Amino acid sequence: MLNGLNRVISVGVEPDKCLDWEMYGDENEPMRIGYGYDIHRLVEGRPLVLGGVVIPCEFGLDGHSDADCLTHALADAIFGALSLPDIGHWFPNTDPSIRGIDSRKILEKAVQEAVTRGWTVGNVDCVVVAEHPRIGPHLDAMRASLSATMGIRPDQVGVKATTNERVGDIGRGLAIAAHAICLLKSVCDV
Ligand SMILES: [Zn+2]
Repeated sequence: MLNGLNRVISVGVEPDKCLDWEMYGDENEPMRIGYGYDIHRLVEGRPLVLGGVVIPCEFGLDGHSDADCLTHALADAIFGALSLPDIGHWFPNTDPSIRGIDSRKILEKAVQEAVTRGWTVGNVDCVVVAEHPRIGPHLDAMRASLSATMGIRPDQVGVKATTNERVGDIGRGLAIAAHAICLLKSVCDV
């Protein structure tokens, strides 16, 4: 069986690019999967940002950052695939210097941590759970925004939307939640 470095050379990837993979990765582990979930309350007087896209609405999500629960769920899926702590560890909500931060920076950080360890995003899939407003017309813009932030193609990003069938707090329009799953592929296996 080829060791990691030989595999790197055999598939034509620059060995230097995989040094971290050599340090952190398992040569027998060509892919990893991660899952993320997030929910934020809807309040008046805030912009509604989902997947980095500002959506016209009389309410917005409340939080220390721009409260983009879709982008947070996706970042947590990537951190989870890496067995790293969630976004609260990297961007604590007690840090005043990141108040109002654009959550795409959080997602960029997650992807950066993946790349540093020799992983690349294979594909992601997400679900936004919102009773109001209608999310469907904005899905393509979200896919474009998220793929640009992660440095991957839009066809590697799935974003779907559903309501909560008027059940519970999400169903009463008090909050919006998001689920995300991601697949990371070893750079050395690409
Ligand atoms: Zn969040």
